[in-house]
Amino acid sequence: MGKLIAIANQKGGVGKTTTSINLAASLGILEKKVLLIDADPQANASSGLGIDIETIENGTYEVLEHTITAKKAILQTNSPNVDIIPAHIDLVAIEIELVDKQDREYMLKNAIGTLKKTYDFILIDCPPTLNLLTVNALVSATAVLIPMQCEYYALEGLSDLVGTIKRVKKQLNPTIEIEGLLRTLFDKRNTLAQQVSDELSSHFGSKVYKTIIPRNVRLAEAPSHGKAAMFYDRSSKGAKAYLALAEEILKGIHNEK
Ligand code: ATP
Ligand code: MG
Repeated sequence: MGKLIAIANQKGGVGKTTTSINLAASLGILEKKVLLIDADPQANASSGLGIDIETIENGTYEVLEHTITAKKAILQTNSPNVDIIPAHIDLVAIEIELVDKQDREYMLKNAIGTLKKTYDFILIDCPPTLNLLTVNALVSATAVLIPMQCEYYALEGLSDLVGTIKRVKKQLNPTIEIEGLLRTLFDKRNTLAQQVSDELSSHFGSKVYKTIIPRNVRLAEAPSHGKAAMFYDRSSKGAKAYLALAEEILKGIHNEK
């Protein structure tokens, strides 16, 4: 049975999408079969993997609305072993459209149930809010990966997210776990980043990944070429860091067994 990881943080611009794309590509390179679900109306994960978002007819919106099956919305990406359910801007409206539905928090879970058998990993790129889309992702997920930038307000934002995860665990998805906290956009010369990082480790211990994602310009450039970093510049520090993260996650799962 595949592992379903929601990549979430309500804070904007912390590297959720960069992590979704590059972790998916890295797991794919390590011969795992991966499905990435783009749950953000900005559709950056879709365009970042070379999907022409202007031409998308079926995506996460239609899957959540249950107008098509999840299987029908799946597209191949240019990254080996990585498929995607893409997003388009219509997804903005989903919040309003699902509001009266009784199972509104379970729409994604119900739609993708059978796909867990087909993939080793399903990753969900969440939007920068704790809205119904993110709740749907958390309800579907076996675990949450939290990318975070080590800056002044990061820990405050983190307690809101951890609170939401606890509520979801209590009311909607009792088996959800925090898969790990990922330090992103990291600049080791910055003393504040180092302090926040130390604080994070003392609070969360082994939940903090050993792998740190450095600030690296190649990671920022790759999406404009519609490629994961490892297919844009595989010798870059950013590409290597995400490959190391994929290995760390696989090792963690292996140790759990
Ligand atoms: P949003 O909340 O808007 O969905 P996000 O959390 O998904 O944002 P990204 O889109 O991944 O964040 O990253 C924000 C910006 O920072 C992007 O321009 C991205 O290319 C850049 N970026 C992300 N990670 C890195 C990194 N490690 N080094 C350099 N640039 C990065
Ligand atoms: Mg994003």
